[in-house]
Amino acid sequence: MSSVYARSAHPPPRAVRARGSLIWDATGREYLDGSGGAIVVGVGHGATEVTEAVTRQLASVGYVHGSMFTTEAVESYTADLAALLPMTDARIYPVSGGSEAVETALKLARSFHLARGEDRSIVIARTGSYHGNSRGALAVSGRPGLREPYSPWLSGTEFIPAPYEYRCPFPAAHPSGCAAEHARRLAETIDRCGADRVAAFIAEPVCGATLGACVPGPDYWSRMAAVCRDRGVLLIADEVMTGFGRTGRWFASEHFGLRPDIMTLGKGAASGYWPLGLVACTGVVHDAQPANRFVHGFTYSHHPAGAAAGHAVLRLLRGLVPAVSAKGERLARALTTELADHPHVGDIRGIGLLRAVELVADRSTRSPFPRHRRVIERITAMASSEGMLIYGSAGCADGTDGDLVLLGPPLVTSEAQLDAMAAKTARAINTVLADR
Ligand code: PLP
Repeated sequence: MSSVYARSAHPPPRAVRARGSLIWDATGREYLDGSGGAIVVGVGHGATEVTEAVTRQLASVGYVHGSMFTTEAVESYTADLAALLPMTDARIYPVSGGSEAVETALKLARSFHLARGEDRSIVIARTGSYHGNSRGALAVSGRPGLREPYSPWLSGTEFIPAPYEYRCPFPAAHPSGCAAEHARRLAETIDRCGADRVAAFIAEPVCGATLGACVPGPDYWSRMAAVCRDRGVLLIADEVMTGFGRTGRWFASEHFGLRPDIMTLGKGAASGYWPLGLVACTGVVHDAQPANRFVHGFTYSHHPAGAAAGHAVLRLLRGLVPAVSAKGERLARALTTELADHPHVGDIRGIGLLRAVELVADRSTRSPFPRHRRVIERITAMASSEGMLIYGSAGCADGTDGDLVLLGPPLVTSEAQLDAMAAKTARAINTVLADR
């Protein structure tokens, strides 16, 4: 019997080796890592540049408390990262993962307003979003299944719809007028709450796991940002999934000319080599209060080994990010070739190397499979048994039903491997949905 409090119902295979876009288990089975775990691995498995950088750092200074020391690792990494961020005079608060980053960002937003004499606490978020599993991050996440058991603890958030082109919440305005409707809904919600009570609007620039790589229309972000700016509401761009080249730019915000007040980062930041998350804010947000007045902190924030891992990953990404858009197009083409005519494939969408396939019971009505059929779980298991790892998600259509295959392979994945990933994904879908 294992002493591990397991995350899966069935004992998972034991991973023993990983290189590039491949993982091997203890029985020798090889897996194509089509999702980089949970869309984490950018620079590929087994990158010695990263492992050596972490080892060197651990050998020199393994740990110091962030309030007692700074380190060359943290200083040089944040300086290089700040220069890449779509914000002016960025300041970076390193933490240990995406949820911690979101917790930090929410507290930072409130703290900013308090420092300016404004008691703002309400956060506007979007249905169909995911920002993490800690209590504050879950409170702003729109996934009913994750929220339900903890609902008595989750409050202080107002939700508006997310831009989900395949199931547009504003069908009468679709497609050219949706962005104006989204902005109107945001403005109405802030005004109903009282603009002087709303601290922040948090959203993923491209919806990630919950709605599956939904790319908003071209004017969505400029309109949403204008509403926030006019009402003094801070805009938090959660780029935990979309950052560090995943979408073909360093940060997804860049596709839309979005310049957030606060950004949250994680996953691809250290490519899984270290549990690293980051919060970045503009100089204006930072300077509203002296750093030591922001009542916050974690034992492992500002960790030098995390910074060393992040810095080594960043250096590798410089050579990888320019090729992501073309690789993403290749993957999209392969998925389209394999699946566009499938009677249960409703939509194939995404950007860069973040791609999703939405499965439906009926293409003409776009009705999803009922949850009890556990379609995505069966497809994920089938793919895994064929040596292909995909990231499955359920609930996109209405919070409960709606099955999604999400692909987010390492950015080092070769074209041949991308084609193989599309073919294996299609085979798993075909096999499970053969009873059509
Ligand atoms: N924000 C987004 C957009 C995410 O996709 C995730 C994780 O999937 C998180 C936050 C939470 O990150 P973590 O799981 O590292 O706590």
